[in-house]
Amino acid sequence: MHELALMEALRERALEQAERHGGGAIRSITLRVGSLAGVELEALELAFAVVMEGEGAAPVQLKIEPVVARCFCSSCAKNFEAVDGCCECPGCGRISHHLVAGRELDLVSLELE
Ligand SMILES: [Zn+2]
Repeated sequence: MHELALMEALRERALEQAERHGGGAIRSITLRVGSLAGVELEALELAFAVVMEGEGAAPVQLKIEPVVARCFCSSCAKNFEAVDGCCECPGCGRISHHLVAGRELDLVSLELE
C-alpha cells in the first residue's frame, strides 16, 4: 500500500505550505487525482486519515478532484478520454502513447483556520 507513503509526503508539503501562510491549522486539503495515478481513492482516504491524525484538534478534510485520463491522437489531432487506461483512439482505432492527463497526484489547495 504505497498510498501511505504518498500521503506522508503530501502531509509534509501541506504543513510546509500552512507554515508559509501563517501557520494556521489545516482545515481541508484538495487533491487532484488522475484516473491513472495508480492509487485507490478509498485507500488514499484511509491513509490520509492515518497520517493526519493528531494534526490539530479538528479532523482535516480531504477533498478529491478526480481527473479522467486523456490521450492525444496525432492522426486525428485531438484528445480523447482514455477509458480504463486504454489509449485506443475512438476515432481511428490507433493506440496513442501520448497521455496528456490522468497521472496527476497534485496538491491543489489548502484551507487554513
Ligand atoms: Zn485517432
